[in-house]
Amino acid sequence: MLSHPVRQWHYLLEIARALASSLDLREVLQLILQSAAEILQGEIGLLAMRTRRGQLQVVATYGLSRQHLPRFRPLLDDIPYYRTEEGWHLSRRDILARLQLVAEATGLELRQVVALPLTVEDEFLGVIYIFRTSERPFTVEEEYLLHTFADHAAIAMRNAQLYTALQLERNRLEAIIENSADGIMILDADCRVEVINKTLSRMTGWPTEKARGKPGNAVLHLENATGQEPCERLDQGDIPKEPMHREGDIIRPGHRRITVEVTYTPIFDEHGELQYIIVNVNDITRFREAEEMKSTFISVISHELKTPVALIKGYAATLRREDVRWDEETIREGLAIIEEEADRLTALIDNLLDASRIQAGGLTLKFEEVDLRQLIHAVADRFQAQTAAHTIVVDVPEDLPHVWADPERVRQVLSNLLSNAIKYSPDGGVVRVGAWAENEHVTVYVADQGIGIPEEELPYIFDRFYRVDSTLRRQTQGAGLGLYLARALVEAHGGRIWVHSKPGEGSTFFFTLPISTESGTQSVESEVRWEEQGPAPS
Ligand code: ADP
Repeated sequence: MLSHPVRQWHYLLEIARALASSLDLREVLQLILQSAAEILQGEIGLLAMRTRRGQLQVVATYGLSRQHLPRFRPLLDDIPYYRTEEGWHLSRRDILARLQLVAEATGLELRQVVALPLTVEDEFLGVIYIFRTSERPFTVEEEYLLHTFADHAAIAMRNAQLYTALQLERNRLEAIIENSADGIMILDADCRVEVINKTLSRMTGWPTEKARGKPGNAVLHLENATGQEPCERLDQGDIPKEPMHREGDIIRPGHRRITVEVTYTPIFDEHGELQYIIVNVNDITRFREAEEMKSTFISVISHELKTPVALIKGYAATLRREDVRWDEETIREGLAIIEEEADRLTALIDNLLDASRIQAGGLTLKFEEVDLRQLIHAVADRFQAQTAAHTIVVDVPEDLPHVWADPERVRQVLSNLLSNAIKYSPDGGVVRVGAWAENEHVTVYVADQGIGIPEEELPYIFDRFYRVDSTLRRQTQGAGLGLYLARALVEAHGGRIWVHSKPGEGSTFFFTLPISTESGTQSVESEVRWEEQGPAPS
């Protein structure tokens, strides 16, 4: 048999090996307890660790069956440890009294005990107990010997604590990066992608796995960008010291353009060597669009206002010339044009007011039971009177149920659709207006044989100030508000609006309105707030 000190060395060596290997904490603690018990010749042992809530929890046992464990609580609850200048201690008297209780409860012959607190740098981490069933007491030397094991156990616990804390911190950071609404990418010193988060992966279309290890400027490729690309600067040996900012567009076929603002922050180690570049990508598309919309608004509105005002002024000035006597017919024609242009101005101003009311949430609908069939006929007749090139055909069943709506607003929607159908059928043709009932709603349609709408434009035609770019568009008047208002109004009624169109063949707009379930004619007012639609999801 090995001598005492040699055996001790043997055990400690094994423990040191276990501590350095990747064994888990419980296995290391089990090994420490077992070695301690064997070297101290104790038959039973217990190692408990302080949980985050401050209670002691058994993490290793020796020579003890599970069923006895709960009865050891007196040696674990509120145990009497205290501190002196030399370190932490357990009150021996108190421990012995508690031992008595445990021995009686378990029926085990626990005659002798040695107990030590497990501490590291002032922190109380747990406790180790070795019990003997014989009367032979533990010597001071043996207690001293146990210290070595206790210290190892404490170090193992502290390491595990630090590792867990580190892991938690790491997970938290990863979660923050991964779930950030901004795009984030971490590049190594060679500008290769180490980390890319979900948002940026979605923006660029690069799956995380594929992006890793690729050059940063291939993954985040900006068009129309400002400033020099930081990875290109690095290639030229120019290491940026300060954060750099760029703006540009991410353009992918089949997706909407995303305008981004990017900040590249270089991170250096203590020797001044570049370690990483943190890339933060902020989507500013909506901000840009809002800016563009403002300038579109100004150019559209000034153009739309200028034309009728110029006509009104021109005709008024001509008619009032004192050197010419106009015949009655010319005067009437001139006045008719002035009236028409004034109407156009009023309509434009009304549309603008409605658009801003919808945005501010101040548009009120007056709901009542509406005879849609009659309303469609009235609007169609009004438009037919204004055009000879188009034939307006109404196709509404006689028994079309009444709808629950604001008649003025429905008239506005229909007028917008009919005026577009005529405006965008420059060669004339048939414009068909109809309706049918289905389940709880009526669907209305306006179909033309005009120029149609290219497929890629379809998602945007209901946007504010949006006009499809074409020669005809440049020749026709319009502020790009008609369909925006039509959609807002239809949706305020709880309905839906959509379009089918083929360039060169024509367009059919559809919208739904709820069938009236009211029997009376009592009208109801309701305030409408229509949420602005974001850019189409890419
Ligand atoms: P506006 O007619 O004032 O330009 P709208 O909001 O009514 O604005 O329509 C937006 C755009 O949708 C129009 O500029 C036009 O390009 C397209 N559009 C609307 N209706 C039709 C239609 N019936 N046929 C073809 N294009 C249409």
